[in-house]
Amino acid sequence: MAKVFCVANQKGGVGKTTTTVNLAAGLAKVGQRVLMIDLDPQGNATMGSGVDKRTLELTVYDVLLESATISEARVKSEKCGYDVLGSSRELSGAEVELVAMERREKRLHAAVEAVAADYDFVLIDCPPSLSMLTLNGLCAANGVIVPMQCEYFALEGLTDLVNTIKQVHANLNKDLQIIGLLRVMFDPRITLQQQVSDQLKAHFADKVFNSVIPRNVRLAEAPSYGLPGVVFDPSAKGSVAYIEFAEEMVLRIKTM
Ligand code: ADP
Ligand code: MG
Repeated sequence: MAKVFCVANQKGGVGKTTTTVNLAAGLAKVGQRVLMIDLDPQGNATMGSGVDKRTLELTVYDVLLESATISEARVKSEKCGYDVLGSSRELSGAEVELVAMERREKRLHAAVEAVAADYDFVLIDCPPSLSMLTLNGLCAANGVIVPMQCEYFALEGLTDLVNTIKQVHANLNKDLQIIGLLRVMFDPRITLQQQVSDQLKAHFADKVFNSVIPRNVRLAEAPSYGLPGVVFDPSAKGSVAYIEFAEEMVLRIKTM
């Protein structure tokens, strides 16, 4: 049975999508069966997995509205080695449409359960908000991976996310926990980043992943080729770090 993880942080541009597609590709490389779900209407994780969102007939939108199952809507990314449940622009409308529906925050959960036996990992790329879409992601997940840059305001932004996760845990999904904070775009030459990294470890202890993702231009270039960095240039520093992170996650789920 798959373990299901949301990659979430309500801030934009913190590395959620980069983390989702590179972790998916890294897990596939080490032999794991992976489904990547793109819950962001921007569809960057879909495009960044070599799947053209404009040509998809069915997406996560149809799954949320229960007009399709995941088995029907998923596609295989041959180059990346994992399955993709893509997103499209219409997904931004789902927010409004879902409000009037029953079990509106549990729809993704039900859909994922139906395919959980097909995978070792399901990774969900969340939009930069604490919206109905993100709530669907959190209700479907066993855990949350929080990518963050080691900047001055990083900890402050974390409070809202931690509170939301606590509420979802209390009211909707008893399984949910923060699996860990992942330091991304890290530059050890910047003293402030070192300091914030030390603070994170002091506050959150073993909730901070051992793996650290460096700032690496190859990771930023890869999406324009429709690939995760791990596939585009496996020997780049950033790619090596994401493969290490994938190995850390494989060990982590054994203790869950
Ligand atoms: P989010 O999904 O949280 O909005 P993205 O993953 O799209 O964030 O990342 C924001 C930008 O930062 C993108 O242009 C991405 O290519 C770049 N980026 C992400 N991680 C790294 C990294 N480790 N090194 C360099 N650039 C990165
Ligand atoms: Mg994103």
